[in-house]
Amino acid sequence: MDNKNNNLGFSTRAIHHGYNPLDHQGALVPPIYLTSTFAFPTAEYGAACFAGQEAGHFYTRISNPTLSLLEARMAALENGEAAVAFSSGMGAIAATFWTLLRPGDEILVNRTLYGCTFALLHHGIGEFGVKVRHVDMSDLAQLRDAISPATRLVYFESPANPNMQLVDIQAVAALAHQHPGITVVVDNTYCSPYLQRPLELGADVVVHSATKYLSGHGDITAGIAVASQALAERIRLQGLKDLTGAVMSPQDAFLLMRGLKTLALRMERHCSNALAIAQYLQAHPAVDWVAYPGLPSFAQYDLAQRQMKRSGGMIAFELKGGIDTGRRFMNALQLFSRAVSLGDAESLAQHPASMTHSTYTPEERAHHGISEGLVRLSAGLEDIDDLLADIRQALAACA
Ligand SMILES: *Cc1c(COP(=O)(O)O)cnc(C)c1O
Repeated sequence: MDNKNNNLGFSTRAIHHGYNPLDHQGALVPPIYLTSTFAFPTAEYGAACFAGQEAGHFYTRISNPTLSLLEARMAALENGEAAVAFSSGMGAIAATFWTLLRPGDEILVNRTLYGCTFALLHHGIGEFGVKVRHVDMSDLAQLRDAISPATRLVYFESPANPNMQLVDIQAVAALAHQHPGITVVVDNTYCSPYLQRPLELGADVVVHSATKYLSGHGDITAGIAVASQALAERIRLQGLKDLTGAVMSPQDAFLLMRGLKTLALRMERHCSNALAIAQYLQAHPAVDWVAYPGLPSFAQYDLAQRQMKRSGGMIAFELKGGIDTGRRFMNALQLFSRAVSLGDAESLAQHPASMTHSTYTPEERAHHGISEGLVRLSAGLEDIDDLLADIRQALAACA
């Protein structure tokens, strides 16, 4: 199947886009090109590749046929023109920032961010002359006031890791684009393109930790950036090739493409399991609050209904006893694993304040909307009755 199939359904694209077995000796599954370098027919051809006059592959840090197929598929799923594959989500995020920001520029970011993105900004980019400013992007007036002539980038996650706060992607992109020269970048890790496609809502770049739902089996670290052809090419030739070198291995691209084939099926199950868990937690007397976009009690329920196909597989909640009870709850879990990461077949529980978001100081967490007692759950693909039974017994044990 060639590349002119964007009218086909999501799963059909995830399984077929950009590949015809008959071009590859009939191999139903795309071959893995495990090679770092590519031979040139002549010295002149090699020189033309380096000059950008020939489109051929020459070195895997720049391109590789297995990576190119994955990139074409990810672009088709996010409805973008082109994608760039990375060895991790942080590789994709760092390469995008380093490509688009220079000393003197300003980046506006949402109040709450994944811990290592926060660290990259405050202990990396921010120390090289880029001004980092947080605004609560659920409040458009705050964003409008914060935009200055130096603003080059607007960056957020929706839902935010770990507190689940949403950002109205369409409204923020429209506001930012009133100012020429601002690029809007969205971390779509929590949703995957099956639930939410920021480029269709006006964003310029989508980044992913493909370690999570996209690969879906917890066996690789990987990242993706999707954008226009021109922007993706800049991110590839600067951010990937020269500034980070964070290239994905072809073997991992193969595993990621295998994961993509079941993305729609898996997301449906993650969403169903998470909704049932969120409803159970909300009704339990030991629970102080639950943040899940699919609960009518969720503050941004209407936005969630509008912006997301379903409500995702991630839940944030806090027990009435705070973090001490939360720790006892986590230690009592038998089926859920105590582990960071998310989007795996296995259900996971972790404590952001002491794990993924320990890159913030306690004061910073308070300021950025991450409560010390917040427990984060990633609903896996197991049978819901077993997951609910595990939560029930753990809540009884920690009371
Ligand atoms: C995990 C995660 C990242 C970082 O991705 P890695 O693949 O671990 O480098 C970035 N953003 C979000 C929202 C994440 O959950």
